[in-house]
Amino acid sequence: MSNRPDLPPEIARRRTFAIISHPDAGKTTLTEKFLLFGGAIQMAGQVRAKGEARRTRSDFMKLEQDRGISVSASAMSFDFRQYRFNLVDTPGHSDFSEDTYRTLTAVDAAIMVIDGAKGVESQTRKLFEVCRLRDLPILTFCNKMDRESRDTFEIIDEIQENLAIDVAPASWPIGMGRDFLGCYDILHDRLELMDRADRNRVAESIKISGLDDPKLAEYVPPAQLEKLREELEMARELLPAFDRQSFLEGHMTPIWFGSAINSFGVKELMDGIGEYGPEPQIQKSAERGVAPEETKVTGFVFKVQANMDPKHRDRVAFVRLASGHFERGMKLLHVRSGKPMAVSNPVLFLAADRELAEEAWAGDIIGIPNHGQLRIGDALTEGEKLRFTGIPSFAPELLQSVRATDPMKGKHLEKALMQFAEEGAAKVFKPSIGSGFIVGVVGALQFDVLASRIEIEYGIPVRFESSQFTSARWVLGPKDTVEKLANANKQHISTDHDGDIVFLTRLQWDIDRVVRDYPGVTLSATKEMM
Ligand code: GDP
Repeated sequence: MSNRPDLPPEIARRRTFAIISHPDAGKTTLTEKFLLFGGAIQMAGQVRAKGEARRTRSDFMKLEQDRGISVSASAMSFDFRQYRFNLVDTPGHSDFSEDTYRTLTAVDAAIMVIDGAKGVESQTRKLFEVCRLRDLPILTFCNKMDRESRDTFEIIDEIQENLAIDVAPASWPIGMGRDFLGCYDILHDRLELMDRADRNRVAESIKISGLDDPKLAEYVPPAQLEKLREELEMARELLPAFDRQSFLEGHMTPIWFGSAINSFGVKELMDGIGEYGPEPQIQKSAERGVAPEETKVTGFVFKVQANMDPKHRDRVAFVRLASGHFERGMKLLHVRSGKPMAVSNPVLFLAADRELAEEAWAGDIIGIPNHGQLRIGDALTEGEKLRFTGIPSFAPELLQSVRATDPMKGKHLEKALMQFAEEGAAKVFKPSIGSGFIVGVVGALQFDVLASRIEIEYGIPVRFESSQFTSARWVLGPKDTVEKLANANKQHISTDHDGDIVFLTRLQWDIDRVVRDYPGVTLSATKEMM
């Protein structure tokens, strides 16, 4: 059954993935159907409704809704057939945040959802490029086939050309729009018929013994059947057949056609993830590759979220387990501080609710509530001093100064900003001269999100204003030289949330001057997360 009988069965059955798409392609709808078929919710329509009732981030959501972009949940686990799926959500802003990229460091595969009428859109392409950097295997779901879509060959060509990846059809649509009947499942020689009457009903599946099977004519009208036979013949000649190895290496993507809102094609896609994988993969660290089947537990923090529950001012660090079998109460080494940490109340994000995780395996995502000790990039191990690599830190491209509109709240603002800096939501710099703070982000929308979160979560209305600086550089080098530099350039100097010295300027000329005048010092646009 399993593709990797060498792995412990609990690890071999895990599939940890994210969904990438352009806003509106159908990510939320597909997620909902996954949860429905995974038995995690009873009825479609609950993902949004429930999120709204429960989420403390109603501000965030409101903001996202106003702009027509979807909600950022975190990670959800559910079972489907013999598999355990861990779906990690990528926030789908039209502006990128570092969060999006980091999420993709925690998964083994991605599902790319495209709208059959629109093809590959800008956001999809950007996210795809991030996946490619890591050679992540990608499964493609072409959604909204119940609407007028593009010609099937045209869609496939566009993906191949635009993303430079081979596309192998796993299913083939029969008709489109009003005439969309269903799909021919190429990998299993099955006919899948869509039920238009009931959106939550799963398609009828009819076993066929190939394209010449007379049974086909019972279900497909002659004109459509002829077209299907022609197209499939052409597809066999022109398109590559599915090759699992090529898929696992990130060179080929299988494509399914369907309609998420009609629950059509979704189970076939889920079967595809289960059957073809991948299982939890080796995770890179500076020291060595960490294999999932290693008996010792290791994991890394890829995301920190504050204020998930307004009653507890806690933060939850999301940890991707890289190896081993974790049990609640384990003592793990927090590698950065060198201190042991008893993980007594980990959470598994079962879609039904947050639940205490009694155990978890390599590939799983667990949440660890903490008071700020756990930061993005941190490693947890049973003693080995590992540093996981590949968690990117981005140079802030946009700087703005921020002030509380009520000057009495300055101190509280500092606390809020530091928290967001530790969460990795923004870079925060405290200039050595004057009051106020400079905030650095990678996408302009993040300023709005931050302003909204600071107001809702901390009750502090704030104003972002343009800053006199446009570049931030971390000052690295021998301590005494760095101090000398800082003393002589006070108007440019600030500190980040770790107390590290950052040089702020508007002119490349300043940067060149400092590098020339202080040999041994480098000005770095990024700071390692570890
Ligand atoms: P997201 O922004 O990618 O999360 O997209 P949503 O899941 O919110 O879907 C965007 C819109 O497309 C919503 O109005 C959905 O009801 C609609 N939608 C999703 N899937 C389908 C589909 O298969 N067919 C049609 N006709 N509409 C769909």
